[in-house]
Amino acid sequence: MFDCAIIGAGLAGLTAARDLVRRGLDVVVIEARDRVGGRVENGILADGQYVELGGQWIGSGHDSIAELVNHYGLKTIGNPSTGHLMVRLRGKAKALPSSEETSELTPFEVADLGSGLVRLRRLGQRLREDEAWAKANHVWLSQDLTRWVKTNLRTVGAQKRFKKVYQTAFGPLEEGTTLQEGLMEVNSGPDLEGMLASNGGLNQLRVEGGVHALTEAMADELGDRVRLGSPVVRVEHGPESGTLVLADGERVEARHIISTLPPKLAVKLEHEPPLAPWRAETAEKVASGNVIKAYLVYDHPFWREGGLSGQSSADDGPVRVTFDTTTGENRRGLLMGFFEGADADSLSKRSITLRKRAFVDSVVRTFGDVAAEPLEYVERDWSAEDYTGGCHGAHFAPGVWTANGPVLSESEGVLHWAGAEYSGRFNGYMEGAVRSGLDAAAVVALHLA
Ligand SMILES: Cc1cc2nc3c(=O)[nH]c(=O)nc-3n(C[C@H](O)[C@H](O)[C@H](O)COP(=O)(O)OP(=O)(O)OC[C@H]3O[C@@H](n4cnc5c(N)ncnc54)[C@H](O)[C@@H]3O)c2cc1C
Repeated sequence: MFDCAIIGAGLAGLTAARDLVRRGLDVVVIEARDRVGGRVENGILADGQYVELGGQWIGSGHDSIAELVNHYGLKTIGNPSTGHLMVRLRGKAKALPSSEETSELTPFEVADLGSGLVRLRRLGQRLREDEAWAKANHVWLSQDLTRWVKTNLRTVGAQKRFKKVYQTAFGPLEEGTTLQEGLMEVNSGPDLEGMLASNGGLNQLRVEGGVHALTEAMADELGDRVRLGSPVVRVEHGPESGTLVLADGERVEARHIISTLPPKLAVKLEHEPPLAPWRAETAEKVASGNVIKAYLVYDHPFWREGGLSGQSSADDGPVRVTFDTTTGENRRGLLMGFFEGADADSLSKRSITLRKRAFVDSVVRTFGDVAAEPLEYVERDWSAEDYTGGCHGAHFAPGVWTANGPVLSESEGVLHWAGAEYSGRFNGYMEGAVRSGLDAAAVVALHLA
């Protein structure tokens, strides 16, 4: 019998396994796919160059994943180019200095936004640390977050900018999202002030060779403790030990189990005893999002010749943002973009040729005819992946995070939870996955001590 059996060889599962092995415990990682990494994956282009099809950027405060990157001697690379940002609004494309969005705010608006963020962060801290205050102010904390923004940020410019930064960090600011939910997101998520700084935001660093190189290094170290191509179909968890039943009928017994499946996948697995009903209800209300990450490959990064960064945003079309992900010298130009939400939903049912055309049309409207003839198109439709079920990460509907978010990661006897969606900090990010893996391993180690 193993000390611990871990379901899933993504960042959370590999981190937990590595930590338990370092504590001298006997571990097995059961992975459904025939590769490790989960939502971190490399694609290979015709010339052998890699592109990152899943998680890619490490941002400020992502210290646990940065530590792993360092440990395995992997190098990090910054964003490749500086230059103007292309913005396409109401059909008209315009180049703007990349800092212009911030400088569009008047000094008064900047001060207004700054003090609003500080107030929000202080409230978040209070909510985290002072349970009696949270209880006493329950009704006030239930007010609409957008209402709080309107009353606390005096200028329209600051209110608009706040909404944009919030959406980038946590997903759409939906009607019905309460101040308390906003504060919990702020407590768990990235550094909002950092995101406002033009060079200190979320998308700071990449790993040379892709984050997939990190997951491969971790899996190499774990050796034959990682078993690929072995979907778990049933989890049995008793008071003293648990059993994973695999698709081929094999039974893997362990004293503890760590499940790293995103909530929606986790509740689809058969569990004995069954999981608490609130888990299924929570999973039901967690939209996993729909993202197709796509690349256009050009002979060279043509945008740089015009003083452009390759970064663009648009108010229409299926691909509304692009980034230059060209690496190294003398490489082909890589323009990465996302099909998201309803556009991704409808286009994922169509052909790859049509999606390529839609992406090319979008970048031609932004960058001009020079973008019309890419050499190659590569994509990953994450909603079509049975063992992921939508991406980037889960997005909690209003009320769900407040009610069940913090307890999602609570153990049920010998069954423990890890994964980006279970993390109290950097929820939904690779950093959250790593931290949750460390937390779950610490809990298991404590039980076995
Ligand atoms: C397109 C995209 C872009 C992203 N960009 C970023 C970014 O730039 N920065 C960032 O920080 N984050 C980003 N993310 C999010 C990040 O990739 C994830 O948060 C993180 O990789 C999740 O790791 P995890 O271990 O929690 O889950 P996963 O990686 O999903 O791991 C779960 C594992 O369980 C396996 N599994 C599923 N079902 C079974 C089963 N029945 N039996 C056995 N195994 C099973 C899966 O195959 C998988 O390997 C992005 C994600 C996507 C998709």
